[in-house]
Amino acid sequence: MGYVLKHGTIIGENTRLEQVDVLVEGNRIKQIGIDIDSTGHTLIDCTNLFISPGFIDMHVHLREPGFEYKETIESGSKAAAAGGFTTVACMPNTRPATDNADIVRFIIEQANKHGYARVLPIAAITAGQKGEELTDIPALKEAGAVGLSDDGRGVQRADRMKRAMEIAKQYDMPLIIHAEDETLSGKGCMNAGEAAERLGLPGIPDDAEAVMVARDIVLAEVTGAHLHVCHVSAKSVIELIRYAKGRGLPVTGEVAPHHLLLTDDQIDPDNSDWKVNPPLRTKRDREACIEAFLDGTLDIVATDHAPHSVEEKQKPFTEAPFGMVGLEIAFPLMYTHFVKTGRMTLNELVDRMATRPAKLFKLQGGRIQPGEPADLTVLDLHATKVIDPASFLSKGKNTPFAGQKAQGWPVLTMVDGVVSFDAR
Ligand SMILES: [Zn+2]
Repeated sequence: MGYVLKHGTIIGENTRLEQVDVLVEGNRIKQIGIDIDSTGHTLIDCTNLFISPGFIDMHVHLREPGFEYKETIESGSKAAAAGGFTTVACMPNTRPATDNADIVRFIIEQANKHGYARVLPIAAITAGQKGEELTDIPALKEAGAVGLSDDGRGVQRADRMKRAMEIAKQYDMPLIIHAEDETLSGKGCMNAGEAAERLGLPGIPDDAEAVMVARDIVLAEVTGAHLHVCHVSAKSVIELIRYAKGRGLPVTGEVAPHHLLLTDDQIDPDNSDWKVNPPLRTKRDREACIEAFLDGTLDIVATDHAPHSVEEKQKPFTEAPFGMVGLEIAFPLMYTHFVKTGRMTLNELVDRMATRPAKLFKLQGGRIQPGEPADLTVLDLHATKVIDPASFLSKGKNTPFAGQKAQGWPVLTMVDGVVSFDAR
């Protein structure tokens, strides 16, 4: 017995098939057609709904092991499913850090037991993310890690990063970098500039991000490793990525919805939910991010979903931890501000949230075709809701988008042929 998704509109890979049925049997898409017989199968009525390949988020923090009060693999993957994500790649700044094969295996086991999405561990570049001793990259890959990152921190030493890239290249592992030169970012808590001066808060200049991206582009050219730049926030960084791509280097970039939609002059200093790293930057930076996203310099959307407890985020702006949640609102925000406004088509957005991440990181999913894994997201593009963190399935409620209206919400998510979220 399987599922028949009936009378939906399939989108993705530049196609739009209206009024079609999708038959799912076992964990695979078996057939796409008109009037598929649903006898013996569970019928999912998709009239007036869109069927997209499940979204893939290459940047989330699931906080397990070590910070289960912020999020767990169970709660975080539930939030992923609610946001239409069928695959999430989780960052290694756990406690202990995901810097050895046992922890990689633990995450995969937890996800198999309690997960609502495919969970792909990203392992640390250096032991304890301390920036000194390199991790055992072949062993991490063997255990199931899909990439390497010290996210939360940049790798400060160029010699360490170069060696990591040499080994990563050999084992076909992407370096997924958090670019931050700590000698330049210091103790800043928001973007350095007029807004920070007005608020009297210490700033983080965008050169702290750009300097490390420049270094790592040089190293990517020398080593041939795939360099993926996380959460790009600044015009200066985009210019560097554009340069690298122009030279044909294996460099890719991601952008988070908050950097496409928010700026530093909007920050409420009494609300630490606005605190994120890299910080919200200027209007000029935001415009550069939008342009780079539209022209493909920034390849994919990633949420940098970073849940924290209410208590932690109630601390003053200078003391609260960095981060915002994003899994449950990424698609509605992107649909509302990019598709509804005519900046990009729905197909293009689905490409950036599903198909392209699958291609860039050689993952399964990202397309709806017979024989492919049944990773699907059903969307109601007419539904409008006010963003209410109290309704989130994530333990994290920290988002500055609370109270904003957004249109286009996932109503059903299926991972590997199993319904992981159903809001119908
Ligand atoms: Zn980061």
